[in-house]
Amino acid sequence: MIYLDNNATTKASSTVVAAVTHYLENCYANASANTAGYTGADVPRRIAAEQLARLLNAEEPDCFLFTSGATESNNWIFSALYSSGLRKVCISAIEHPSVSEPAERLGKNGCELSVIPVNKEGIVCIETLAELLSPDTQLVSVMAANNETGVVQPIEEIAQLVRARCPTALFHTDATQAIGRIPIDLQGSWAEVDLMSFSAHKFHGPKGIGGMYYRPGTALLPWLVGGGQEAGFRSGTTNTPGLAGLAAAVGQINVALYDEVRNRRDYFESRLRGVLPVQFHSSNAVRLPNTSCFSIPGASGEEIADQLAARGVIVGTGSACSSGSLSPPKTLLAMGVDYALAAGTIRVSLSKTTSIEELDLLVALLVEIVAVQEPFSSQRS
Ligand code: PMP
Repeated sequence: MIYLDNNATTKASSTVVAAVTHYLENCYANASANTAGYTGADVPRRIAAEQLARLLNAEEPDCFLFTSGATESNNWIFSALYSSGLRKVCISAIEHPSVSEPAERLGKNGCELSVIPVNKEGIVCIETLAELLSPDTQLVSVMAANNETGVVQPIEEIAQLVRARCPTALFHTDATQAIGRIPIDLQGSWAEVDLMSFSAHKFHGPKGIGGMYYRPGTALLPWLVGGGQEAGFRSGTTNTPGLAGLAAAVGQINVALYDEVRNRRDYFESRLRGVLPVQFHSSNAVRLPNTSCFSIPGASGEEIADQLAARGVIVGTGSACSSGSLSPPKTLLAMGVDYALAAGTIRVSLSKTTSIEELDLLVALLVEIVAVQEPFSSQRS
């Protein structure tokens, strides 16, 4: 299989698999037991938090809380803040459903919800955000990098604007697609970020483990009560194999490797442009180095992806993260892309190991598949 859908999920590295297996097979004791110091079951959580603090330059390892992933972290943030009196929220128009749906639910429950539009490249409109913000805004949430187009938002500028206009508001960013692919500095350019969510499986870790960063002093209510794990914030038996895998994955992150990934993505785009009438989305914006999102006018993205899959090549269509959904990518619609074009979108997302040969094969297959697609041939004639 040639896997080019790394924004949906990534392959766990062999180091990650070994770490997870070790904790499943040999170190399966409960991390909350009094004997955890003897069994070593308390180690993965500590190492995971330390590794994340080092990678992201957080103040301290205690700034990280672990969950089943970004969906849970995002739901937690919105629910907990609502319980503490949140009534005025601002989110971008292109958030992942795990942010937009909790926000919309709050909107139906008495919260004032504003949605920040994006421009045609998919970048949040800073001027409109400035108009939407008021001193009583309590939470602003803008994703760091978009799962569909790969567009990287100017988080530093946005967070500073929020701090200046509404000093008491919290700023949250969903960094699920960003961690491991772009540099993040929580005490540098991202110093105004209060909350940040992530999932390990987007950076070659295991599925079902992730978490959130919360800046020291940020008031956040507990999410799950019970056994008091995660400092009383999120009860439930600690997922030691997952955390061991997460720690191993963080330890292997090397953002510099993505310079080469960017070269390969750009190579793919220029080759494809040379042989098919492709329309690339957000190609003038700052994008994740691994993401290419495009439409072929008149061709069906779903059909192309199916045919590629039948030949062993996996790409994404639209919002592949919400699998099974045939609705066109919400991000592209928010950017003003025509409905039919948006519905035909293909997303190619590379990993650190994607080779030029794999991309050459993809280009050749795309040409072959599109050539026999009815609507496209009629457009050409
Ligand atoms: N946010 C973004 C930007 C994502 O891409 C995803 C995964 N598609 C999520 C949140 C949710 O992650 P998970 O399914 O691991 O909870």
